[in-house]
Amino acid sequence: MTIASGHDLAGPRPRQTKRSASLADASLTDKALEVHHRLCPVYGCPIPYFHSLDPLSELVSSLLSHRTRNADSGRAFKALRARFPDWAEVVEARVEEIEATISGVTWPELKAPRIRAVLAAVAERHGSLSLNFLRDMEVDTARAWLEAIPGIGPKTSAAVLSFSILRMAALPVDSHHHRVAQRTGLIGAKVDVGPSHPILRAQLPADWSAQALYDNHEILMLHGQAVCHHRNPACGRCVLLDLCPTGQKRERS
Ligand code: SF4
Repeated sequence: MTIASGHDLAGPRPRQTKRSASLADASLTDKALEVHHRLCPVYGCPIPYFHSLDPLSELVSSLLSHRTRNADSGRAFKALRARFPDWAEVVEARVEEIEATISGVTWPELKAPRIRAVLAAVAERHGSLSLNFLRDMEVDTARAWLEAIPGIGPKTSAAVLSFSILRMAALPVDSHHHRVAQRTGLIGAKVDVGPSHPILRAQLPADWSAQALYDNHEILMLHGQAVCHHRNPACGRCVLLDLCPTGQKRERS
C-alpha cells in the first residue's frame, strides 16, 4: 500500500472518553493513544477495509491465513469457493478433498479438518450455517460465542467481527502488531498474542468506532512490516523511538 504522510491524512482523532477497562494502566493508555496518533498520519488513516466478506466467509479466510502469506491464503480461499460454492458442501466433503484444494497454505493437513469442524460447529450451535446473527450481539458476547468453538481464538474472533461486513468494534492483534506493542512496552515481554487482545483493547477508549479500532490494528501491523522488522528493526527512522525502550536500547548499543 502507499504510505502517506502528513497530519491531514489522519482524519479526525477518535474522541478520548471512556476507557475500556479499569485495569488499563493510565500511562499505558496515554502511550497507546500517542502511538496511534503518530502512526495514523504515516499510514493514512482511515485505512480502507481490505475485505467485504460475509462473516462466515471471513471466518474461513481467517482460518486459512494463519502463518501463511496473504497471496497464498487468498488463492486458497478462491480455490475453496470455486470447488465448494456453498460452505455447507465443505461440511459434507472428505477432508482429503478440502486439503488438496487448500494445498497452497501452511499446514493444509491441519487446516482442512479444522475448517470442516468449525463450520459444522457453527451449523450445529446456531441451527444454520450463517454468522450474520452476530451483528445483533454486543462485541464481547459475539466474541465469546465464536471462541466457544474449538479452533477459534481471540485473533480469529476479532477478525471475523472487524474485517467482515459486520464491521464491528473488535481489535485483532497479529504477530506484527504484537511485536510493535511488545517492543514499545504496551504489553510485557511474556504476554503472548492471545492474551494481548484484552490488554491492548483496554488501553483504547471503550467508545472507539469499528473504523478507529481497525485503524489501530492496521497501523501497528503495517509499522511492524515496514519499520519494526522481526530481525532488524529500523529504529533510527522510527517515529516511535522516543516512546520505545527497545529502540532506545538498540540505538545506545
Ligand atoms: S523504535 Fe525500533 S523497536 Fe521501537 S517500535 Fe520503532 S522500530 Fe520497533
